[in-house]
Amino acid sequence: MRPGGASAGSAQTGQQHADHLWRHTDPKPSYDAVVVGAGGHGLATAFYLAKNHGITNVAVLERGWLAGGNMARNTTIIRSNYLWDESAAIYEHALKLWEGLPEELDYDFLFSQRGVLNLAHTQQDVRDSRRRVYANQLNGVDGEWLTPDEVAKVCPILNVSPETRYPVLGATYQPRAGIAKHDHVAWAFARQCDQYGIDLIQHCEVTGFLTSGNRVTGVRTTRGDIAAGRVAMTAAGHSSVLAGTLGLRLPVQSHPLQALVSELLEPVHPTVVMSNHVHVYVSQAHKGELVMGAGVDSYNSYGQRGSVHVIEQQMAAAVELFPIFARAHVLRTWGGIVDVTPDASPVIGLTPYENLYINCGWGTGGFKATPAVGWVMAHLVATGTPHALNEPFGLDRFTTGALIDEHGAAAVAH
Ligand SMILES: Cc1cc2nc3c(=O)[nH]c(=O)nc-3n(C[C@H](O)[C@H](O)[C@H](O)COP(=O)(O)OP(=O)(O)OC[C@H]3O[C@@H](n4cnc5c(N)ncnc54)[C@H](O)[C@@H]3O)c2cc1C
Repeated sequence: MRPGGASAGSAQTGQQHADHLWRHTDPKPSYDAVVVGAGGHGLATAFYLAKNHGITNVAVLERGWLAGGNMARNTTIIRSNYLWDESAAIYEHALKLWEGLPEELDYDFLFSQRGVLNLAHTQQDVRDSRRRVYANQLNGVDGEWLTPDEVAKVCPILNVSPETRYPVLGATYQPRAGIAKHDHVAWAFARQCDQYGIDLIQHCEVTGFLTSGNRVTGVRTTRGDIAAGRVAMTAAGHSSVLAGTLGLRLPVQSHPLQALVSELLEPVHPTVVMSNHVHVYVSQAHKGELVMGAGVDSYNSYGQRGSVHVIEQQMAAAVELFPIFARAHVLRTWGGIVDVTPDASPVIGLTPYENLYINCGWGTGGFKATPAVGWVMAHLVATGTPHALNEPFGLDRFTTGALIDEHGAAAVAH
C-alpha cells in the first residue's frame, strides 16, 4: 500500500494519522537535491522545490523521526512585527504565506490569528516598542501601541495593575499574529512532499559530506553514502556540528530553550502575551493547555532538557501577570536546542562550497518563518543564488559588519 496519497478533499474533514501521510522509503543512491533535517524548514524547502521549481528528485534526511526536533517542541507563535526592514520583509512574507497555507496544503492545522501582545514594563521598553510599531507601520506590517487599559480590553485576564513588581506600561499589538498546530503543519508539508514523490527518510543521520574541490558531491549517512547535486542544510540546533565536519565554523551557539504546558483549562486566554522583560510568554492551545515559554538557558548544551531555575522564574512571572493561573498544574516541560547568532537573526545563504546552502541561527523564533524559509531555500537550491528576501542574511554579514540586530524584537531575550 502507498499510504501517502490522501485524497485532496479528505484533509480538512477527516485527516489521516501522521504515520499514513507519507511513504517510508529507503534512500536511493543519488538525488538532484538532498535536504538535511526533516523539521518544518526542511520539509517546506522540499515542498517549494517541487512546487515552485519542479524539482522532485529530492530526499529529506532526518536523523530522528520526522519533525521530532524543534518543530515538535516550539510554542507555535507566529508574528511578523520585527524591527528591521530585512526582517520585516521575510517574516511578513511568511505570515502572508501562512494566511493561504491551510488551503494550499489542504490541511487544517489550526492557524489562529488571535493577535500577539508584546508587553513593555520600563520606560525604555516603551520607547523601543513604540519605535518598533512605527517601523512596522512603515513596512506595511500591522501593529499598534496599546495603553494598559487597551491591553486589558484585548486580554482581560492580564494583570495591568500598577501595583505589580514590573507593571505593564503598555504593549505592542499585532492583530494578524497568532498560533498554529506545529505538528500538523509538519505533517501537512510532509504529505504534500510525498505526493510529489519526494523521499522522506527517517533514522538517517548525515555524518559528513562527500566533496570534490569546493563542490559537495554527496552526503555520508548512517545508511550509506548518497550522491547529491545540491545539498541544503536545515539542521537547526545541530548546524554547527554538521558544518564542523567540513571545517566550517559558524557564528552560532547552541542553547537549550524550554517550554511547558499546564493541565487543560476552559478557554480563558484570548490572545498571545509575551514579555521579554520578565521572560515569559503564554498562549492557550486549542485543546485548553496554557503553553508557556521562557528565555534560553544561558549555557551551551545539546541536552534537550534545560535547568529547573528557568522554569521557576518563568512560572513566577506568569503567575504575577496572570493571577488566575496560580492554581493551574504543570502537566509537562521539555526543551529544544536552538542555535543563536550574535545579532539574533538567522543565517540563510551560500557557503564556501558552491552547491551547499545553509539555513540556521533562528534562535527562539524560526517556526513563524517556516513557509518563507522553504520558499527562499528552494530558490537558493534551485538557482544557486540567494532570493532577495534572504540576501541580507548571508554568512558574509559577520565579516562585512552589515548585522541585522534584532535582539530587542526577537521573541524572548537571547
Ligand atoms: C521551546 C521552544 C519554543 C519555541 N517557540 C517558538 C515560537 O513560539 N515561535 C517560533 O517562531 N519559533 C519558536 N521556536 C523556534 C523554532 O522551533 C525553531 O527556530 C525552528 O523549528 C527551527 O527550524 P526547524 O523547524 O527546521 O528545526 P527542527 O525541527 O529542529 O529541524 C531540524 C532537524 O534536523 C535534524 N538533524 C539535525 N542534525 C542532523 C543530521 N546530522 N542528519 C540528519 N538530520 C539532522 C533534527 O533531528 C531535526 O529534526 C521555539 C523553539 C523551542 C525549542
